[in-house]
Amino acid sequence: MPRSSWYRGDCHVHSVLSTAGELTPQQLAAAARAAGLDFIATTEHNTAEGHGAWAAHAGPDLLVILGQEATTQTGHWLALGIGPGQSVDWDYGVQDHLVDEQVDRVHGVGGLCVAAHPHAPYPTGDFAYPLQGFDVVEVWNGQWASDRPWNADNERALAEWAAALTAADLRDGSWRPAMGNSDTHLAGQLSLPHTVVLAEELSTRAILAGIRAGRSWIAESAAVGLSLTATAAGHGAGIGERLNSLGEPVNVRADIRGVPWATVSFHTDHGGVHRAPELPAHGAGAAQWHTTARESGFVRVEVRHPNGHMAALTNPVVLT
Ligand SMILES: [Zn+2]
Ligand SMILES: [Zn+2]
Repeated sequence: MPRSSWYRGDCHVHSVLSTAGELTPQQLAAAARAAGLDFIATTEHNTAEGHGAWAAHAGPDLLVILGQEATTQTGHWLALGIGPGQSVDWDYGVQDHLVDEQVDRVHGVGGLCVAAHPHAPYPTGDFAYPLQGFDVVEVWNGQWASDRPWNADNERALAEWAAALTAADLRDGSWRPAMGNSDTHLAGQLSLPHTVVLAEELSTRAILAGIRAGRSWIAESAAVGLSLTATAAGHGAGIGERLNSLGEPVNVRADIRGVPWATVSFHTDHGGVHRAPELPAHGAGAAQWHTTARESGFVRVEVRHPNGHMAALTNPVVLT
């Protein structure tokens, strides 16, 4: 098995082919490389017409995942990893019972379905579909935020996602991981935020597998670094992985860089359980917490700026 690496990517990106999009594929690819991204997904509104334009701009250092955003009447969703030119229907609402068939078609080609910005501030932005069938929730969407890519709509999406996480679902794999994307339409938005994924290689198949399994965390920008490890009985497990603690005490450690004066908090099936002392001005440091698998079915971490805005958040490590 190849050794896995962490790859940074933004899976919600519009070009001039989308309403209000002002960047060409060439400009977006240059911006992705400049922002330190390893992959992006092309997700135009309701069309796959632009897929062919991307081959010229991808390369060994920049994977372009083919996708689409379906802006339905009762919520938007992303299809990631569809075939070249494959499009997804969008002209329906939750009352039409047509979404399942579209989601099945995406899964049929190995693709991933993302519930996009569940509480975006416009009439079709509230995501009304049952989450069954969807693989991932975009709890952090950068489009409508101002100076930093975090706002009240994201806070609400995160709170709902967090409240739905259960230890039982995590153990049997029926949970939905979180992801974050910029929803870029304009210059300067790409990568704010993005998702950092553990994958065997930089390919659509491997990246989507990492996202699907929750082996990922969300970064405000590429300036932010984070690792989270739970260890017990001489074993360790990371984000999206499972630690068999053998009943021994579990040490949870988060290492952060790039977030001056950050507050690091630990969250389990009992909600927020521990807040570490703030990081120093240079923004790098570690935060630790101790628990047991009996006490906590999983643990995840949020890293916030002093003003409460998110800097990074992880998917959970499962504790058994
Ligand atoms: Zn949208
Ligand atoms: Zn969008």
